[in-house]
Amino acid sequence: MASGESELAETEATESDYVVVGAGSAGCVIAARLSEDRGAGATSVLLLEAGPRETKADLSTPFAWPSLFGTDVDHGYASVPQPGLGGIAPRCPRGRTLGGSSAINAMVFLRGHRADYDAWAAAGCTGWGFDDLLPYFRRMESVPGGGRAGAELRGDSGPLRPSPAADADVNPLSRTFVAAAAAVGHPLTDDFNGARQEGAGLHDLTVADGIRQSAADAYLHPVAARRPHLTVSTDSRAHRLLFDGDRCTGVEFTRDGRTVRAYARAEVIVSAGAVDSPRLLLLSGIGPADELRRAGVAVRHDLPGVGRGLQDHPLCGLVYEADRPVPAGRVNLSEASLAWRSDASLPGPDMQVMFIHVPYHPPTMTAPENGFTLGVATVPRARGSVRLADADPGTPPLIDPGYLTDESDVRRMLHGLEVAREVAAAEPFAEWGAREVLPGPGVTDEAGLRAFLAAATGPYFHLAGSCAMGTGAAAVVTPDLRVRGVPGLRVADASVMPSIVSVNTNAAALAIGEKAADLIRDAA
Ligand SMILES: Cc1cc2nc3c(=O)[nH]c(=O)nc-3n(C[C@H](O)[C@H](O)[C@H](O)COP(=O)(O)OP(=O)(O)OC[C@H]3O[C@@H](n4cnc5c(N)ncnc54)[C@H](O)[C@@H]3O)c2cc1C
Repeated sequence: MASGESELAETEATESDYVVVGAGSAGCVIAARLSEDRGAGATSVLLLEAGPRETKADLSTPFAWPSLFGTDVDHGYASVPQPGLGGIAPRCPRGRTLGGSSAINAMVFLRGHRADYDAWAAAGCTGWGFDDLLPYFRRMESVPGGGRAGAELRGDSGPLRPSPAADADVNPLSRTFVAAAAAVGHPLTDDFNGARQEGAGLHDLTVADGIRQSAADAYLHPVAARRPHLTVSTDSRAHRLLFDGDRCTGVEFTRDGRTVRAYARAEVIVSAGAVDSPRLLLLSGIGPADELRRAGVAVRHDLPGVGRGLQDHPLCGLVYEADRPVPAGRVNLSEASLAWRSDASLPGPDMQVMFIHVPYHPPTMTAPENGFTLGVATVPRARGSVRLADADPGTPPLIDPGYLTDESDVRRMLHGLEVAREVAAAEPFAEWGAREVLPGPGVTDEAGLRAFLAAATGPYFHLAGSCAMGTGAAAVVTPDLRVRGVPGLRVADASVMPSIVSVNTNAAALAIGEKAADLIRDAA
């Protein structure tokens, strides 16, 4: 616990106005916003975090993020074997410290395209279109003067300070990538989070003064010491929800080997992320009744959508060797993107290349160290699931993102490889003597490329959609994020996305947290 943050009393039960489960991207925003002094008396908030407080310097060092996999700040999950990836079971890192996945992520900060959110509104999630969310995207950030996009589109007084890599720090290969994309006809954007949300350009990073800004860095640490009514309890893993009749009244969690009950006078908000939010609901008997019975969990409320609908972008890297030394990364290893539409009739982009100025490939493959990667991703149609193996809260969940199980996803990824190869072959890369090594120039036929996709595709770490918001029978939460049929309980994090956004998901998760805070305060 950071100095000044108030300690949870050493009792077996505690009570506050709100209990928030999970101090990740959304949970930090919600706890910080709910505990703001709004002149009507202090609102008390207990924020529970399964992991420890930030334990290692690498959390702050932007280029060190891959070294955090499998450490004590990662839940260390793996997916179930993926049929679309030849049966391998890729790792599934999830942040496990203050800031959650925003504390271990790659720091790319993209809102996505307005069409991503307009699709949510069109699917019945009134109030979640892009124009509805724009005030929340603005409220989360400080971009001096609104930057190149202007103050109507960018905020200038929020807690997060996103910006592209500083001119002096940008890896020259990132600029080569942007120039190469332009050379083959892609439009340029000078701010993906501004008016032009597609094309090629340098993307924003959640890095300020050379240091990672997690959601905890931006929202929690600056205020926690000053707010005695905000209690942040680390090493506190919730393992079931508590009820009085139908109403959710609290959370039972373990800390230091003890079992503690945290009661909420107003509401419980589950923000444990796209794996652990559905998992906590399922462990509490809220989910598909047949599946719960099979796992040995007593059914409290049959809600078929819980854990269904999981999505992640598949990511497949084309790796190149350079004949000139590639300068070491100074920031986060990925400073530029390309977003485009696989079909011109689509309302927004469904394809992304994330440029990575180091070789990036699954552990099953090898490549020379002096190189770079064009990471191809698509918005998947495939939907997977989060399920329980049994009723024991300590048993790892069964996570199935369903990578490449939809033929249309495979076809779009093939298209993405073609586009990425065209960019890498453009004249600006010639000065690096770039030579494709994965899969290699000899692999050109469809069968070979399909085999490469199956072997080289892995997670983009953007799990979403496993407690989807909506109005139909498959929805877990309503558009005001209340769990359907369970008073006193909301879910607010990446799991509520009705469909995954077209880019990296942190900004969307933060916006969900910002809007959730207003929905909760408005209902109080
Ligand atoms: C390795 C990696 C790289 C990524 N790179 C990027 C990127 O560059 N850009 C981007 O936009 N997105 C990226 N993402 C995705 C992005 O970070 C996430 O989408 C976002 O942080 C999700 O926010 P969330 O609030 O839904 O969940 P999380 O931030 O994961 O928060 C959930 C929190 O709940 C806690 N928790 C879980 N279970 C319990 C429990 N039972 N009791 C108490 N606490 C619990 C967890 O420990 C965690 O702190 C990356 C993710 C990873 C893992």
